[in-house]
Amino acid sequence: MTATVRFAPSPTGYLHIGNARTALFNALFAIQTGGALVLRLDDTDTARSTEAFAQTIEDDMAWLGIEVARLERQSARMARYNAVRDDLKVRGLLYACYETAEELDYKRKRQLALGKPPIYDRAGLNLTDEQCKELEAEGRTPHWRFKLEGRRVEWDDLCKGPQSIDTASQSDPVLIREDGSYLYTLPSIIDDIDFGITHVIRGEDHVSNTGTQIEIFEALGASAPRWAHHNLLVSADGAALSKREGSLSLKALREAGTQPMAVASVAALVGTANAITLEPSLQALADGFDLAKTSSGPARFEPRQIEDFSAQIVHALEPEAVDDELAALEIPAEVRAPLWLAVRANCQRPADAAAWWAMLQAPAVDGAVGDEDKAYLGAALEHLPEGALTADSWSAWTSALKGETGRKGKALFMPLRKALTGMERGPEMGPILALLGRDKAAERLAAAVR
Ligand code: GLU
Repeated sequence: MTATVRFAPSPTGYLHIGNARTALFNALFAIQTGGALVLRLDDTDTARSTEAFAQTIEDDMAWLGIEVARLERQSARMARYNAVRDDLKVRGLLYACYETAEELDYKRKRQLALGKPPIYDRAGLNLTDEQCKELEAEGRTPHWRFKLEGRRVEWDDLCKGPQSIDTASQSDPVLIREDGSYLYTLPSIIDDIDFGITHVIRGEDHVSNTGTQIEIFEALGASAPRWAHHNLLVSADGAALSKREGSLSLKALREAGTQPMAVASVAALVGTANAITLEPSLQALADGFDLAKTSSGPARFEPRQIEDFSAQIVHALEPEAVDDELAALEIPAEVRAPLWLAVRANCQRPADAAAWWAMLQAPAVDGAVGDEDKAYLGAALEHLPEGALTADSWSAWTSALKGETGRKGKALFMPLRKALTGMERGPEMGPILALLGRDKAAERLAAAVR
């Protein structure tokens, strides 16, 4: 069966890695079933939704490689929601309630004190038109609740297995606020029906709403989609990931040069029965994807793992893949490929090549060595091969020095590395020496023994 799924973020902030998990679960399921993903922007909260956040969400999807078959914005569909709202009112399924937040809170506390479950008492349902008018004359405006049937609702959750909720144990859900704005529930259900959504795959923080939502689907004459509620990502210490953790926003990861498949592999595989491995593509992730393999506990995730995977990808990138980025860093065309091949194993991200290029270009480095190495570097300067240096010059040079001085291992290599690069560790020296060139190498050796 081909699935139509949706990822439905609100453009009121940046997406974080936990949102990426939900987006990917949907995308992988769509790939697996040959189906399609709808990106639905839940932007009915016009005060907090912004165009910039909406654009960033689209950029994030593209960066992760998620194919969006259809883009929808709830803000463009208000007329449709209003029509359904009016119909539900006429049918007596949406009723006005006039309690303030304080009054509702008081009712809840009183019920709890009496040992009763704090369910809304449906006072609004029993108001006559006359009473409603009186309340409005007092200056109150209603919020609107959906009248639940109060029955056992069951579904077979594709992540969590068989679920059953008695909606008689739940309050009639508020669908419309006092100011007339919609909570997410009704627009979401109308959209899921209108867009032909076959599977709702979302975080398990929504599971307790599913019973009432199934009732609303049915009240609207539709059958509910299949449901999958996945575990939520938490940090390694168990804390929930909030939208506000800037450093873990997809935008921040993207701008830091993190590789998208590193993010996708971790976000999709953590908290499942599959091992967390670096996968080369969303297709490869989809091949091993199974909603039923989602763990029941929270998905504890280590940002470190993304960094490690990302570095692994970067170390294997071919020069063509980073050419544009190195060009943007003003690294000259003729050195980009050899530079990248020389330093990629020492780069966490392509942009790190710039620091190595700067080191090679610097007028001088701090290559000072101890007195015990000065004579050795003097000999090294004398034996520096003549003519243009190549990647093979290093081994010819160091074998000559080995024969000459009897030095080997660290004592042979470290003073050279220190004098030529100013550092005690770094990329393999053969390509570095060739990139540095004979004149600069000679200058740096001379400076180090001075
Ligand atoms: N905009 C809702 C949210 O992000 C969508 C929930 C859903 O997937 O049904 O919580």
